[in-house]
Amino acid sequence: MRIQADLHVHTVASGHAFSTVAEIAREARSRGLRAVGLADHGPALPGGPHLYHFSALRFLPRVMDGVRILRGVEANPVNARGDLDLPDPLLARLDFAIVGFHEGCGLKASTPRKNTRVLIAAMAHPRVRILGHPGNPAFPVDVRALVVAARDRGVALEINNASFVNARKGSLETCHAIAAEAARVGAMVCLSSDAHVAQQVGEVTEAWQVASAAGVRPEQVVNRTWDTLVRFLELDPAEFETRPGAYR
Ligand SMILES: [Zn+2]
Ligand SMILES: [Zn+2]
Repeated sequence: MRIQADLHVHTVASGHAFSTVAEIAREARSRGLRAVGLADHGPALPGGPHLYHFSALRFLPRVMDGVRILRGVEANPVNARGDLDLPDPLLARLDFAIVGFHEGCGLKASTPRKNTRVLIAAMAHPRVRILGHPGNPAFPVDVRALVVAARDRGVALEINNASFVNARKGSLETCHAIAAEAARVGAMVCLSSDAHVAQQVGEVTEAWQVASAAGVRPEQVVNRTWDTLVRFLELDPAEFETRPGAYR
């Protein structure tokens, strides 16, 4: 499976990632991607960007090196009510938000029932379109309840490639269970690299192995093509056309 859009990419703005937007766009182009989503960490993550980073995303060209640049965040729930570390007016300016648990962001891991409740509450924010690495064993979830809630809310469950390569050891079992449940109930899935350096952009080989082995069909993958992504995020494709006089 080749994806045309990778929505989970970190830049130097995350504080612990290594590539610039220009480097990421160049690499994405060479790999045949049509879009990348910048999903730098929300400000609650130690070393994460200031809130100004997210309002300044408007200065970025919509297309760089022929690759569409989507403005996003990997936001953190900061309390049991599912409030996020980015205020709603800032979220509203973005193309999408991923929500996922991370250590050190003020909310400790709890029981599967409570963790699930937080994620379901966070999905009430209209910009939240993807649950990031929900198979992370450090923050166990009630798989069935979470997948059904995501399906009902039209939110995609991420199968995160880094979880099988160099992060969140022990993710495989829960990721497989999430993918199997998504296949069973017809929830949407997002395949992501979680790249922290340009050379990882668009790399979802392991994620697709896990998802397809669990029965996920290509039609369930929201970032499979630019067109499926436009529909999923309700983007205005005209905004991403290169015009004379626009940045390139
Ligand atoms: Zn993450
Ligand atoms: Zn990430």
